[in-house]
Amino acid sequence: MYATLSVDGYETQLTDDEAHIAVTFSGGDATHRCADCGEELTETAQGYESELTGDTCPRSDDDAHDPEPIPLSWVKSAAILVDEGEESVTLAIGIGDPRGAFCFTVRRIPDDAGGDLAGRLVIHMPYPGETLPHQVITELRPGTFVVG
Ligand SMILES: [Zn+2]
Repeated sequence: MYATLSVDGYETQLTDDEAHIAVTFSGGDATHRCADCGEELTETAQGYESELTGDTCPRSDDDAHDPEPIPLSWVKSAAILVDEGEESVTLAIGIGDPRGAFCFTVRRIPDDAGGDLAGRLVIHMPYPGETLPHQVITELRPGTFVVG
């Protein structure tokens, strides 16, 4: 087996039978910015404030910032781990603590494992009540969970 990494349409050959591809997002902890002036905003007890102008927006008629969520500000990392020895592929998406991530793994059970699952594919994924979860999740409906 060989794997090919493609970034924005450009392919690169991976030479190892194990591959760990990671994307790390940076840009601070801000989750909102002002739709009028573009400044990153921090939520305080009084409302949203920017580091430069506080709670006063230099471009707004009513002097208040207009907070809007920063797209993808909630994601910290995304990684793919391909492990030929384990016959598994894991997708890891980190949204909080940078030391962890939600992990979704598809793995083939070895033929010599015995039992009904030998040679079958299984999926491991986060679930409510998991020990040491990346974030607590609650099932909304089968296969869909609310985070937090
Ligand atoms: Zn503003």
